[in-house]
Formats: sequence, structure tokens, C-alpha cells
Amino acid sequence: MKKTEHRVFKMEFASVAVIAFSVFLSLFVNYLSFQNTQTALRIAAQDAAQTAAGVEQRPEEYVQLSDPLLVLVNDRVSLPENWSVTPRMIDDEQVDLRAYQELSEMFAAAAEDDVWFWVVSGYRSVEQQEIVLERAIRENLKNGLSQEEAEADALRTVARPGYSEHHTGLAVDLNDVSDDFEESKAYQWLSDHAAEYGFVQRYQKDKVEITGIDRESWHYRYVGKKHAREMKRLNFCLEEYVEYLKKQGVQ
Ligand SMILES: [Zn+2]
Repeated sequence: MKKTEHRVFKMEFASVAVIAFSVFLSLFVNYLSFQNTQTALRIAAQDAAQTAAGVEQRPEEYVQLSDPLLVLVNDRVSLPENWSVTPRMIDDEQVDLRAYQELSEMFAAAAEDDVWFWVVSGYRSVEQQEIVLERAIRENLKNGLSQEEAEADALRTVARPGYSEHHTGLAVDLNDVSDDFEESKAYQWLSDHAAEYGFVQRYQKDKVEITGIDRESWHYRYVGKKHAREMKRLNFCLEEYVEYLKKQGVQ
């Protein structure tokens, strides 16, 4: 090979190498962007699946309204970590100071109408809820259910610890924790007057899909007079009412 030919060959080789490297680089960049697209698609698909399954309603994402009387606790939203209760005794139970005064006034007003109320269950700590749940599970096991069945069945009527409205101290079970209560004169009195004292029946039969809890004629929640009257007028359960307020810009 002559000297000049050698140089030309070297130059050609260099060009080919540059072209080959460019092609390789562009393929590699394409490959990377394909990978990114694939990842993005996979994440989007996962998000869509989670939304469909309702997983997006993670408790930590719920933003409580600043008014503590409107604190929301349900099977999806746990008690806020900074929640504190100032307990007051009423009958053999405790309620939060915020609800105590009007609960006492309501009982006194009912007594004048010859209707008598007592608190069966008021404030319950997370630890107490654990005991209640364990007791229900043990009862089911005794009745021959498997561990899994016993837990599932108990959770149908007992809230998971941390997810019971009784943790707030603003909820009370009155008189008779059974469906018979709905037939009583006391229940009728509450339907007529509870809102005047700031209480609402928390779990109504036409709201089961929203509250996630079966109708409970005996469970009342203190939200204060203003909110109780509004909720009654609008026929909203607490979940609907807080959403309604948020849409109006209430924080
Ligand atoms: Zn209750």
C-alpha cells in the first residue's frame, strides 16, 4: 500500500467509525427514551388501576377542616394524630368537653318532655377499641368461625382501632344499641330536637354507601348547632357536608 492510499484508507476508516458511532448513539438515545416511555405508561396504568380500586383515598391524603367540630373519622380516614380530648364524665362514660355542655342540656330538655337518655358509649381510646375488636373476634372464634372469618365478621360491626368516631369524644351511643331503638319515643324525640343541641344522627340508612356504616339509630355526633341545623336542612351526612363546605372554599 502506498503512503497516500494508506492515508485515504485511514480517513475512510475514521469516517466509517464516526458514522457507526453516531448510529449507535442515536439508537442508544432512542432506546433510553423508549424505556422512559414504557416506565411512564406503566406508572399511568398503575395509577388508573389504583383510582379504579379506590386506593387513591389514602387516609393521609384527607385534609381536615380547621373547625374541630367537623373532624371526619371513618373507615378510610383515621383520627388526626394531633387530636386531643378533654374528658368529662356523663353517666358512666366520658365525652369531650366540647360536646359536654349541650349534651347535658339536651338530656335535661328531654327529661322535661318525659324522655330519658343515657350514654351507653362515649369517648373510646384507640387501645380500648383494640380490646373491643379483640373481644368480638374471640366471640366469633368461640362460635366456630375460622380466624379469617372471625376477623372479617367482627370488622363489619366494630371499627378498626384508629378509625372509630368514638375516638373524637364527640360521638355517643344512646340508650339502646339495637335496631329496636328506632321504634322508641326517645328516638322520635332525637329526630325532632337533636339538631337544636348540635347533634346529628351520624349513620342514616340512605347514606350507607357514603359513610360505609350500617344505619345506627343510636349513634349521635356533636357538630355544634350551626352545622347540625345545616346538615339537617340539606339532608347531608358528615362526609357530604365537609365536601360541600370545601367546595365553597371553607378550609
Ligand atoms: Zn357509636
